[in-house]
Amino acid sequence: MGSLLEVKDLATYFYTDEGIIKALDGVSFSIDEGEILGLVGETGCGKSVTATSIMGLIPSPPGRIVRGSILFNGRELLSLSERQMRSIRGREIAMIFQDPASSLNPVFRVGFQVAEAIWAHLKTPIREALLKAAELFGRVNIPDPLVAISRYPHQLSGGMKQRVMIAMALSLNPKLLIADEPTTALDVSIQAQILSLIKRLQRDYGSSVLLISHDLGVISTMAHRVAVMYSGLIVEEGRAEDLFQKPLHPYTQGLLAAIPRVDEDKSELAVIEGTIPDLTNPPAGCRFHPRCPWVMKICEAERPPLKAVEPKHKVACHAYAG
Ligand code: SF4
Repeated sequence: MGSLLEVKDLATYFYTDEGIIKALDGVSFSIDEGEILGLVGETGCGKSVTATSIMGLIPSPPGRIVRGSILFNGRELLSLSERQMRSIRGREIAMIFQDPASSLNPVFRVGFQVAEAIWAHLKTPIREALLKAAELFGRVNIPDPLVAISRYPHQLSGGMKQRVMIAMALSLNPKLLIADEPTTALDVSIQAQILSLIKRLQRDYGSSVLLISHDLGVISTMAHRVAVMYSGLIVEEGRAEDLFQKPLHPYTQGLLAAIPRVDEDKSELAVIEGTIPDLTNPPAGCRFHPRCPWVMKICEAERPPLKAVEPKHKVACHAYAG
């Protein structure tokens, strides 16, 4: 399988009164066709900025993509005009956001909102587009689809609203689906249903998925491959089974050790000491060095490159040099 998306050395900065926030500072990863890549890391590490950079939705000002490349299906997205990006957004790359309530317009019926997205891209007559919306509602397991298309967002539960958003995202059969914390706002039992729905639809439609989450449990059940982000950089990347069984980066090891396990009787959970760095003035060298239990002299001066140390398993850490 070839790469559908190749992100190389992507840097997105925000120019604020407090200083330049280097939200992404050299992010590189790829997603193959039909693959689910899990992007995981703490809040504020740059996961959502990665998604909005790919979608061409960085608010400017204050944001700007200052360097790098986003190659999608053979096209350089960073060289496209806003009009060209509009035709790609929704049709070729679709996004499911964290909070379905704020993504739906409260004054329009949900079926109309999905139908309008279909009409806008395909010029399908609105009556036909509404029937297509009902069909999609059925696919995402919304009961009574022909009735549900007439509902307003406030008449639906959070889980149903997220199903509407998934139906909207899939309405144009996109090649890439970006799901940014798609279950964070939902109850635990609904979370599992939404995740298995995304997985089933990914298989049915053959789409690639960039699944963004701070929750390693969510990533482990869904992703084929995982990229771990820390402070605007990818610090480890590999196949899900390799990364969860044998994490290489001390940050990934810390994240996994901090997950509570029902089969272990621990009185205290492991924690990663320290706090995430201020992105207006990130630490020199390895950005994790102030928190790293393995820190060496070189770590304070030189940023470690992300490189393969095992087949299909990359890490950015001087401890694996040589
Ligand atoms: Fe720790 Fe150094 Fe590796 Fe960074 S490069 S993770 S500070 S050992």
